[in-house]
Amino acid sequence: MNVIELFKKLLESPSVTPEDGGIFEFLEEYLEGFTTIRIDREGVKNLFAYRTFGEGKHLCFAGHVDVVPAGEGWESDPFIATEKDGYIYARGAQDMKSGVAAFVQALKETDTFEGTLSVLLTSDEEGPAKFGTVEVLAYLKEHNLLPDAVIVAEPTCEVQFGDAIKVGRRGSINGIIEMIGKQGHAAYPEKAINPVHQIASVLSKIAGAFLDNGDEYFAPSQIVITDIRAGIETTNVSPGKLKMMFNVRNSTRTDQEKIKSFIAEQMGELEYTLALDQSAYPFVTDADTEIVRTLSNAIADVCGRVPKNSTAGGTSDARFIAAYEIDVIEFGVINDTIHAPNERTSIAEVENLYAVFTKLINNFR
Ligand SMILES: [Zn+2]
Repeated sequence: MNVIELFKKLLESPSVTPEDGGIFEFLEEYLEGFTTIRIDREGVKNLFAYRTFGEGKHLCFAGHVDVVPAGEGWESDPFIATEKDGYIYARGAQDMKSGVAAFVQALKETDTFEGTLSVLLTSDEEGPAKFGTVEVLAYLKEHNLLPDAVIVAEPTCEVQFGDAIKVGRRGSINGIIEMIGKQGHAAYPEKAINPVHQIASVLSKIAGAFLDNGDEYFAPSQIVITDIRAGIETTNVSPGKLKMMFNVRNSTRTDQEKIKSFIAEQMGELEYTLALDQSAYPFVTDADTEIVRTLSNAIADVCGRVPKNSTAGGTSDARFIAAYEIDVIEFGVINDTIHAPNERTSIAEVENLYAVFTKLINNFR
């Protein structure tokens, strides 16, 4: 089987979260020479496979085989790999069976390496992500198998293949501000306490505010208001309370404390409560690390362009890996049809991704 045949095989294995579509059973056979460990938890299927060649570093390729449901609007069967004009259409073509096919094939064909090579796969990245990568990492830690560097093969490219790798991700902090006033008749504003009037004077200082200036890896962390509600949808009653929600995609320069003190400063004398909840922490892998340099060089060799180091976009399983202080980066095909109908990837991209990963394995020390 070559990388494209493997890619098609993965696409035609229906693996909507938390199913693996039989892929893990297949890979346990396919990755000949690898020691395979199934770490299934609570209906979530996980596979870790490794092969030790020598005493050197442990390089791991990680990803997910699950996909989101197909949804409506497909021009071909989303679970049949349909080839057209140099593209392959199917659910998971970009996110992320292209990545899985590329690294599995590259690993299968490797016969020399200085250290250990491994694969970490889950069937629960698109779902709650509770019993997937998190559980595998805990297992690896317990058994002294944690890797030194990890590549997550999520789709990272923007316009052209090879134009971007992700060296980190922003965190995500959700906030809720509540203000309690006193409901009243609109004709007697002096007898009421109107929280909408109260917040009006400070809202422009909070909405869209930048909490830091960003740096070479991160865009500035910004307060994005997601909801404001108050009142009972009547014109003659002034509201007794107000609830405002916001989100901050934060860089490593902004944390919950910083948000708290920023809001306190703006609100001044106003009475309010603030609840913050952090669903992801930001992380970054330095551009000088071996994994970033080797991958960038491999991309430059294969594609003739040097990728930029990005941290844009949402969260991914890479955050769980970074929490163990492992160097983690992400690189995969162009991301422009993920989760959409008629998801597709070009055959050339999958072949190039496979070539990049092969080079990376050959040059990583
Ligand atoms: Zn994905």
